[in-house]
Amino acid sequence: MTIGLVVHPELCHGCGNCVVSCPVNALRSSEIAGGKGPTDDVEIIMIVEDGEINLRNSDLCGKCGTCVETCPVDAIKLEDVE
Ligand code: SF4
Ligand code: SF4
Repeated sequence: MTIGLVVHPELCHGCGNCVVSCPVNALRSSEIAGGKGPTDDVEIIMIVEDGEINLRNSDLCGKCGTCVETCPVDAIKLEDVE
């Protein structure tokens, strides 16, 4: 069994909680570390675009589960991906 990060854009309302709570994203983007959405071009794990969550670099995910805990609508999860 392999656990991986999975997003469900159809459930997402674009709050950005997951993006700013992720410690990996925060290490890679000073804007995210400051609690904002990134305006620069850094590679981060996921981003809100057009009001929906999108995975960009799931390979960077350390599977800590912080983003999952902060999502109010279960639109981002760690799930069995096999
Ligand atoms: S599980 Fe942890 S490392 Fe992976 S995207 Fe969520 S907060 Fe970031
Ligand atoms: S996945 Fe959840 S926490 Fe992330 S932006 Fe969407 S609603 Fe917010």
